[in-house]
Amino acid sequence: MPSDAHLKLFIPGPVDVRPEILAAQTAPMIGHRSPEYADLQARIVPKLRPLFGTAGRIFIVTASGSGLQEAAVRNCVARRCLCLVNGAFGERWYQVALANGKQADPLEAPWGRAIRPEQVDERLRQGDYDAVTVVFNETSTGLLNPLQEIADVVRQYPGVLLLADAVSAAAGIEIRADEWGVDVCLTSSQKALALPPGLALCSVSDRAMARAESVPHRGWYFDFLSYEKYAAKNHTPATPAISLMQALDAQLDAIAAEGWGARFARHQRLMGQVHTWVEARGFDYFAEAGYRSPTVTAVRNTRGVDVSALNACLRQRGMLISDGYGRLKGDTFRIAHMGDVTEEEISNLLEVMSEFLEE
Ligand code: PLP
Repeated sequence: MPSDAHLKLFIPGPVDVRPEILAAQTAPMIGHRSPEYADLQARIVPKLRPLFGTAGRIFIVTASGSGLQEAAVRNCVARRCLCLVNGAFGERWYQVALANGKQADPLEAPWGRAIRPEQVDERLRQGDYDAVTVVFNETSTGLLNPLQEIADVVRQYPGVLLLADAVSAAAGIEIRADEWGVDVCLTSSQKALALPPGLALCSVSDRAMARAESVPHRGWYFDFLSYEKYAAKNHTPATPAISLMQALDAQLDAIAAEGWGARFARHQRLMGQVHTWVEARGFDYFAEAGYRSPTVTAVRNTRGVDVSALNACLRQRGMLISDGYGRLKGDTFRIAHMGDVTEEEISNLLEVMSEFLEE
């Protein structure tokens, strides 16, 4: 395939971005303290409400998702944080907490197994925690943790905040942050939102803001109090990625036209297509039954397929999937089925993968 040809990404981020959305980034530049910019931000925020399921505050930050992992612990952990770890991104968040000088303990489950609410309850009963971090959709293992059930437990502990990473969930899976009681719910642009990387977005509860007021050394760039102050004028504290915001504005209109419910249902169907292929081709799943992700499937490589050769073949046909994450490389490969991808495109991908297996 020629080097400048469009390689369609079925990797778990960045995902493919439609040409109209890429084009929206080329609108003329505007000043970030201008009325035009304030209008842009004021237009976007209400359109983001269904992304998080919140009627409350939403911050848009120029960073990738990891920036908001850092923001959440910096603003919301005063005493000690319990980090739920059953994959690479749960582990990352634990490391982020430590790197920010926070007291933190991991609650570990084997990779590919969901964190059970009872485990969280047991640890919260024992420890002096004031926050819990959880990754809703573990992109490294293709596992969806039971966020709502975990939130039910955390809400029994009034002084404990729930910080949720929905990086590879939001816009592919319904989230009800207000109803479930999620205090910070964060995501980034390059996953199921199907935008280029560079924006991170979060919902932040009143409880989280009250905590931030009591926490010293929140830093400058990710200070929620500062974000709140500027948001009142539809501004951000520092210069935002205006071109990406223009793409976000256009993409949120496209998502609304599809319908949020229809988008979530499409992700379920895409997962079904991939599951049918996995089972028909004699593979297995890495994630346990009942907790498999609607946005990315980690396939246990039970047939010992050469994933580099598979991807070389896919590349010839203008497509790409992903190897296993970190230590799962070789033992798993991942097919992302998130963003604006259609059933026809997934079916085409799976057909080419089948052809490769039959060669
Ligand atoms: N959390 C999860 C679940 C992820 O999948 C990723 C990236 O793949 C991250 C956090 C880090 O996000 P970013 O690369 O946007 O910093």
